[in-house]
Amino acid sequence: MTTTYLPPDAAATTLRTHTCGQLRIADVGKKVTLTGWVQTHRDKGFFNFLVLRDRHGLTQVTFRKDQNAELFEASLKLGREYVVRVSGTVVERESKNPKMPTGDVEIDPETLEILNPAQLPPFLIEDQTDGGEELRLKYRYLDLRRPVMTQNLVLRAQVVKAVREYLDAAGFLEIETPNLIKTTPEGARDFIVPSRLQPGNFYALPQSPQLLKQLLMVGGIDRYYQICKCFRDEDFRGDRQPEFTQIDCEMSFVTQQDILTMFDGMVRYVFKAVKNIDLPLLPRITYDEAVRKYGSDKPDLRFGMPLVELNDVVKTIAFPAFEQTLAEGGLVIGLNAESCGAYTRKQIDELTEFVKAPHRGCKGLVAIKVADDGTCKSSIDKFCSSEQYDNIKNALGAKPGDLMLILSAPTAKARKSGGDLRLEIARRQQLIDPDAWSVFYVVDFPLFERDEDTGAFMPAHHPFVMPHPEDWHWLESDPGRVRALCYDMVMNGNEIMSGSIRIHRADLQDRIFGLLGMSETEKQEKFGFLLKAFEFGAPPHGGCALGLDRWVMLLAGGETIRDVIAFPKNSAGRDLMLDAPAPVDPDALETVGIQLRHP
Ligand code: ASP
Repeated sequence: MTTTYLPPDAAATTLRTHTCGQLRIADVGKKVTLTGWVQTHRDKGFFNFLVLRDRHGLTQVTFRKDQNAELFEASLKLGREYVVRVSGTVVERESKNPKMPTGDVEIDPETLEILNPAQLPPFLIEDQTDGGEELRLKYRYLDLRRPVMTQNLVLRAQVVKAVREYLDAAGFLEIETPNLIKTTPEGARDFIVPSRLQPGNFYALPQSPQLLKQLLMVGGIDRYYQICKCFRDEDFRGDRQPEFTQIDCEMSFVTQQDILTMFDGMVRYVFKAVKNIDLPLLPRITYDEAVRKYGSDKPDLRFGMPLVELNDVVKTIAFPAFEQTLAEGGLVIGLNAESCGAYTRKQIDELTEFVKAPHRGCKGLVAIKVADDGTCKSSIDKFCSSEQYDNIKNALGAKPGDLMLILSAPTAKARKSGGDLRLEIARRQQLIDPDAWSVFYVVDFPLFERDEDTGAFMPAHHPFVMPHPEDWHWLESDPGRVRALCYDMVMNGNEIMSGSIRIHRADLQDRIFGLLGMSETEKQEKFGFLLKAFEFGAPPHGGCALGLDRWVMLLAGGETIRDVIAFPKNSAGRDLMLDAPAPVDPDALETVGIQLRHP
């Protein structure tokens, strides 16, 4: 006989028989005991309706004065968020609540026990709360009681479970790597931890387990994954957290194609498992196409409105801004805002200011309205013949009633501004179906990008990425032209995964470090262990990492990753609940050999 080991009843404990989300009409007549928090109670004179909440749901308990006056009086004394235990009988409700899964029944109570009283919470513990975000972060444990927040954490756990199922079936081993390590460059600053036993020395927290997972491949592990924290000390821009969670993966003896297929499968498996959505096979576009057509390496393709390069089309137009851009080797870009021909002067001015914002840096925006009879009207009328207008119209595919928007700037700025403008029009025109999914790969990234301040080449991703074998001959002569065996996955305009085939040969890795300007000493100090490992038979390998927080946020339909992280920091990097970061005792600093320099 085989023995199976199963957990005890999922709901019942010594203190309760059911959860607050469990009872249905079929349970009528059962004697039950529930525990939970008092969401509300409404005193209706002879009745007191109490709504009891736990992570699983809500159940109504109805106290009746005429049945048990003492119990009724006791129930009136309950405060919001008191922790209570109620025993009674499940009865069918007179007026059912179809919005509540337990809404067909209620509890006719026999006993009521207060397990713990509670102070009045500082905000409403309901989906629609009156608490601002800072307050909710300070009292995060109360915020987490709100059903929407609980649901987000449930969804997150479901995603993680499905990821594990898939990767386990594919033969991946889940392996932990340490957090007290040495620098792992991913383009951010390291968080550093002083060593007490070796004063003056520091660990770095991993920006990712990149090097360790590569060393696992050298160690013959073949397929590895880990759902792990990464730490990046960055300036706070956008929706970022100094620590966040990655699904980190690496595989040996693979090509880019193998990895793209494996994680295409994983993402579709998870969508099916947690959302019952069948995604199609993920399409692929090149980095070059993405930035040319959509002005971004993570375009949102839930709508069209591609950017069109108009240098050839406008070269005969004597409009000074175009002429200057063309003379300086820049780019004139247009897009067709369908049905926006009725935009007012004010709306067009707003769009002009939008592209002129300092971080976009365009000098202006030309807005051409296409009238019902097909004629065009704009601020550059005096520079444009009707034939020239027709050429622009044809290039952009514009029809009567449309608005053609044209900007010109140095290439990178023009693309970025065009990409941002495309998103802005989509937002204004509500072109994005919130239920649609656009998930695809971007491939053929450049290996290097230039540092905006110094002009020096830096890794576009990290320094361990394999240069495209067809482009190796340009490594020294024309580094900007070298493509990388590097790929991203984009989901509704968010980069959700990033990865690459890695360099596995010491000589090539050494060459790349050299190209990045590292001295021999620096190479050895920072990455000597890696170069050494590659001399001991490193297999060809590659991998990727998926941003769990952002993925769950998108699946939850949320706006910020803070909503799917149990205890996030605020946008300035503070933990408002723990009040961290905080000063430490000077003695503690002395122990680790640090002296604070006070201004
Ligand atoms: N280590 C990379 C990152 O954190 C991902 C990868 O290349 O696997 O972005």
